[in-house]
Amino acid sequence: MAQRLVIVVALAFLISSCTPSESSFGGDYLMEPGSTTSGEPPTTVTTTPMADVPPNAGVVRIPAGGAPLSSTPGAEPFVQAHEGIVMGFTSRSGEWLEVVTTCNDQAWVNESDVEIVTQAQSGSPGPGFDLTQAVIVLDPGHGDRDWGGVGPSGLAEKHVNLDIAERVRTLMSSPRAVDWETGVITAGSDIPAFGRVWLSRDRSGPNEGDYELGLAFRAELANAAGADALISIHNNTVPRIKTDVPGTEVFYAVSVDESDRLASLIYEELLRAFSALEADWSGGEILGARARLDPDTGDDYYGLLRRASMPAVIVEGLYISEPQEEALLETAKVRQLYAEGVYRGTVRFLTTDEVGTGIREPELFLYEAGTVNSSACVVPAQP
Ligand SMILES: [Zn+2]
Repeated sequence: MAQRLVIVVALAFLISSCTPSESSFGGDYLMEPGSTTSGEPPTTVTTTPMADVPPNAGVVRIPAGGAPLSSTPGAEPFVQAHEGIVMGFTSRSGEWLEVVTTCNDQAWVNESDVEIVTQAQSGSPGPGFDLTQAVIVLDPGHGDRDWGGVGPSGLAEKHVNLDIAERVRTLMSSPRAVDWETGVITAGSDIPAFGRVWLSRDRSGPNEGDYELGLAFRAELANAAGADALISIHNNTVPRIKTDVPGTEVFYAVSVDESDRLASLIYEELLRAFSALEADWSGGEILGARARLDPDTGDDYYGLLRRASMPAVIVEGLYISEPQEEALLETAKVRQLYAEGVYRGTVRFLTTDEVGTGIREPELFLYEAGTVNSSACVVPAQP
């Protein structure tokens, strides 16, 4: 009974937390994604900017020992941010960079206190795309007090999602070969290592990567990085029906062209990966690449997708709430299959003009899915 209560509480929290619609981030905040490009060479993302044109947008990484964040340039710091955290920055004032903190707030950090990676020039996915210039943001869903879905045996989505995201990064970070007939991925040179792969939360950060991130933080990190794709890794709860195939869903951003193509290819490759497994599958009435619209605004329902300025998807791989699927997600084998599906789908998205299976029309989302209360969020401090 106690366990059941825990599950109910956890599911209630999931429902309030796995539906990223919160809008605590100031609505009048505007990205200027092109603001760094004027002084840079037009055809490269890795070349150091001209020495006299400091970057106005990009990613900062908090170095060993942490870095002080201030509410205004030069003000007394309000926190020594923990080493290993990355944050997007979108403007500068002199030597001060304006960042979006892990709690969705705006803050300032001195450029001398952080490592800076300048915003990449966005490429156009399709034939001829150069993977060595690709920038990907992988976003492990949930973190810290936001556990996400919790399985009947206590497996937490936040941990599984991080492990899968790390596996995707490992795949993307070295040259590979893919047998597209079978899906088998091996070491090889057919597919080069991706240029840059960011994790929104990372084991190099506090608490072995188990820390809280706001939705605006996640999206603005990808925007500031100049990412070619934002891929949020989740697992699902509360299926509605029994299904013949894995109940995988991939939500796409309606507001950004090609998000549906990215979602369809990841869906197709995940279905291929999971179909090798045995389970009494569960899912919703609608499987595949889906989108949900806010009925009041007609915009993307999910705040992460609504804020993204590049092709963006939320992947819901398996149902962690179901005993058989939780057991699968316990295993390294299945997490690797999940990661390989995401990898193959992303490679196909970036380097071909293929469209995958299962693209569904956007649906009006008529439910109130709740919001994450981010008022208690604290930027992790350096001990
Ligand atoms: Zn989730």
